[in-house]
Amino acid sequence: MAEVDPKLSGGCACGAVRYEIGAAPIVVNNCHCTLCQKQTGSTSVVNLFIESEHIRLLSGETSENVVKTGSGGDHVIVRCAACGTALWSFYPRLGRLAAGVRVGTLDTPGAAPADAAIFVADKMPWVTLPEGIPHFETVYNPAELLPPARFARMKALAALREAQKAAQA
Ligand SMILES: [Zn+2]
Ligand SMILES: [Zn+2]
Repeated sequence: MAEVDPKLSGGCACGAVRYEIGAAPIVVNNCHCTLCQKQTGSTSVVNLFIESEHIRLLSGETSENVVKTGSGGDHVIVRCAACGTALWSFYPRLGRLAAGVRVGTLDTPGAAPADAAIFVADKMPWVTLPEGIPHFETVYNPAELLPPARFARMKALAALREAQKAAQA
């Protein structure tokens, strides 16, 4: 699994939004599901998952759109308010504790290679999958895929999220 430079930066298409990511990703997923195809208008999305606290908005304003996930929960897409570029998303499982940053908005997208291709059962039929990147019909077991330190970060977020939900109930 490739090590990623922890100081990644990026921005939107018009240049108003600039952001910085202050830690190495937990995981980078290339998702081919039909919802990601619909939301991006493309073959798939590449999302870098990170604790939201490590994303620093340096300039610009963001706006949000809410769409539904496959399981009916709210998926919040955070965009540049000026040009609409999708920058990152909050998914229902971890809420706003973790964000999936669109790797295509990084200044150096090649610096965050995908750890896995997922939902390849739904991929456009002509898309070929890269060698050397594990792929899965739907999802994978993070305990098996991720190095222990990264899996621990994911587990910590899940525990925080459960505590949040319990506090709200
Ligand atoms: Zn913009
Ligand atoms: Zn997807």
